[in-house]
Amino acid sequence: MINHHPAEASLIACAAGTMPVAHARVIEAHAALCPVCASGLRAAEAAGGALLEALPPAPMAPDALARALARLDAAAPESAPAAPALDLAALASGRWRRVAPGIAIMKLLARDATDSRLDLIRVAPGRALLTHGHTGPESTCVLSGAFSDGIGTFATGDFMAADAALDHTPRALPGEDCICLIATTHHLRPHSWLGRLVRPLLGM
Ligand SMILES: [Zn+2]
Repeated sequence: MINHHPAEASLIACAAGTMPVAHARVIEAHAALCPVCASGLRAAEAAGGALLEALPPAPMAPDALARALARLDAAAPESAPAAPALDLAALASGRWRRVAPGIAIMKLLARDATDSRLDLIRVAPGRALLTHGHTGPESTCVLSGAFSDGIGTFATGDFMAADAALDHTPRALPGEDCICLIATTHHLRPHSWLGRLVRPLLGM
């Protein structure tokens, strides 16, 4: 049973495309497992579309249509290609990089212009990450297994948002590997000398 969901404002930002792609992917992964948030996302998308339709028409230059068509003909899209949709089933074929005993990371999206990145992290049962804070938002969706960070317990499907105010020590619960999809903006802030030593290895 899913107990932790993204905030409504996050669903709206995801639907509107105003949040970093890495964080949107984590919300989409949660929505794929959570019918409540899936319908929330659809409602937010529909509301955004309705808002656009309700805008009063703006006056246009007489040649606007011709110029728009000419631009379409000119081919070659100027914007960067959209990030590939996340195919969770295909993730098993990616490459895990072991970064500490019992902990492995698979990079999915490299750091982008918003300084955000998307990774999978796999933690063996009972293993803990080093206590850390954050210098920017972090979004996590549990894909399998469960972890506890001393503040709450998060099981498969659960979503967790962290910000600079949160310090925690996530530990995988006994039983099976805990695999999480995790988006981070900026960097983690480890508290121990060991963490500061390890952080460059993680790249996080
Ligand atoms: Zn939800």
